[in-house]
Amino acid sequence: MTVPTVVLNTGVAMPELGFGVYKVPPADVERAVTTALEAGYRSIDTAAMYGNEAGVGRALRASGLRRDELFVTTKLNNPEHRAGDVEGAFERSLTALGLDEVDLYLIHWPLPAADRYVATWRVLEKFVEDGRARAIGVSNFQIPHLRRILAEGTVVPAVNQVELHPRLTQEALRAFHQEHGIVTEAWSPLGRGRLLTDATVVGLAEKYGVTPAQLIIRWHLQLGNVVIPKSVTPERIRSNFDVFGFELAEDDVAEISALNRDERLGSDPDEVT
Ligand code: NDP
Repeated sequence: MTVPTVVLNTGVAMPELGFGVYKVPPADVERAVTTALEAGYRSIDTAAMYGNEAGVGRALRASGLRRDELFVTTKLNNPEHRAGDVEGAFERSLTALGLDEVDLYLIHWPLPAADRYVATWRVLEKFVEDGRARAIGVSNFQIPHLRRILAEGTVVPAVNQVELHPRLTQEALRAFHQEHGIVTEAWSPLGRGRLLTDATVVGLAEKYGVTPAQLIIRWHLQLGNVVIPKSVTPERIRSNFDVFGFELAEDDVAEISALNRDERLGSDPDEVT
């Protein structure tokens, strides 16, 4: 099964479905990523903050897959961002992953109180120029943060990876992304698993004969989001990938979107310092 891709603003194709490894302990990550690659995932989302880049790198090498078959995302950690050690942090991530370049490098959090994200972005722009990042983007950026990058940077972020699930549908941000050619990538796409028992989700999953997780992943795909569910459970890793054999009716997509309560499970990006 080949996952559909979205073409980023540097011309790089990014799989619309990837595998997230937040909170996967370093000792478990190689096995989880190996299971994901065997299931067919080709895009892996890690971060320096997760402390598991080295294990991700081991799984990539052990897979025998060619580098050009894989899409690897990692992110700049907050302390180095705050301290302005962007080049050093990027090199340490490449070394941990055992890669010469990443497909996508993101600023993990804007840290607006530190007021460094524009300066940091100018450094990331060099990584695209010298080929060490095939694309660059941001994570947890709100519209005012994106406006500053658009006004003061020279490269438009390829992606903004944000918390997004049926309880936090991010309509305004998604519309802004669309206007500027920025791809929306959904983190905690399953609401950290908490949305899987919602009565509407369970009812619609029964209607389509799929699992609640498959229903929500399909909802993301039909909205045009890149989606990166996480699991350490082999059966879930495999079933979360099996989402290309059915399609939700427009009414059902709307019914899932109507679960929105603008409710965050993670931190408010404006408050992370
Ligand atoms: P998810 O919404 O992907 O939910 C993961 C949870 O759902 C886990 O507890 C998992 O359990 C459970 N789960 C997964 N599939 C199923 C299933 N089929 N049935 C039942 N339960 C299931 O949450 P995450 O917060 O992990 O988000 C996904 C990824 O997004 C992260 O791994 C990371 O890559 C990224 N992320 C980025 C952030 C950022 O700031 N940029 C912040 C947070 C996440 P189990 O593992 O036990 O199977």
